[in-house]
Amino acid sequence: MQSLMYCTVSETPSSPSAPTGPGPTGRLRQEVEEEKCKYCPLVFTHEHHLKLCPSYPVECPNECGARGLTRSKITAHREVCLLQCVECEYNRFGCAIVLPRKDMAEHLKGSVESHLQMTKRRVEEQEVHLQEQKVCLQEQEVHLQEQDVRLQEQEVRIQEQEVRFQEQEVRLQEQGMRFQKEKDERQLLEVRLNDVKKLESERQEEKSKHQQMEARLLEVVDTLNYLKARLN
Ligand SMILES: [Zn+2]
Ligand SMILES: [Zn+2]
Ligand SMILES: [Zn+2]
Repeated sequence: MQSLMYCTVSETPSSPSAPTGPGPTGRLRQEVEEEKCKYCPLVFTHEHHLKLCPSYPVECPNECGARGLTRSKITAHREVCLLQCVECEYNRFGCAIVLPRKDMAEHLKGSVESHLQMTKRRVEEQEVHLQEQKVCLQEQEVHLQEQDVRLQEQEVRIQEQEVRFQEQEVRLQEQGMRFQKEKDERQLLEVRLNDVKKLESERQEEKSKHQQMEARLLEVVDTLNYLKARLN
């Protein structure tokens, strides 16, 4: 048992009462005049179906007289139809011949020499092309090597700068150490200067004491002289 289906072609309906949706239902179905296709298990409601029916019998477009062809089998038939025009299989090597399939064997048989020439020429062209590509690749390689050399030079320059920086750093550290040493020496000198100043002030004190003692001594001498004069 084959289930009945409805043609789903959405074309302008052939009658005003024909359904517009994807399949009539209920009351609408009864109004539409249903007709079963003679070639496929479809029930169609448009006469248009006959223009699309995959099982509709058709003739070969090449008029080869093949029997039992239907619309859906045409594409497959073209692949074997003896009257179908086909390109020579040496098309990609430059043979532009297009002949009905039945004549192609004879063309191939009679064109062995020219097909060989075409193939040879194509191979030679490809060889030239390969050679050009090879040259291009070699040029690129040279270019890459040059870049490599430039990069190495830059690397050397960077290393030299690094060495110079390290030397500067060492010099700066040495300077720093010298500064520290000078600072220490200055502090030592300051300490000694303070000692000297202290000594000087002590001396000054002693000196003033001496002067006082001297003054007192002079007073004593004066007094003695006075007493001596009185006694005389
Ligand atoms: Zn049909
Ligand atoms: Zn045919
Ligand atoms: Zn050919």
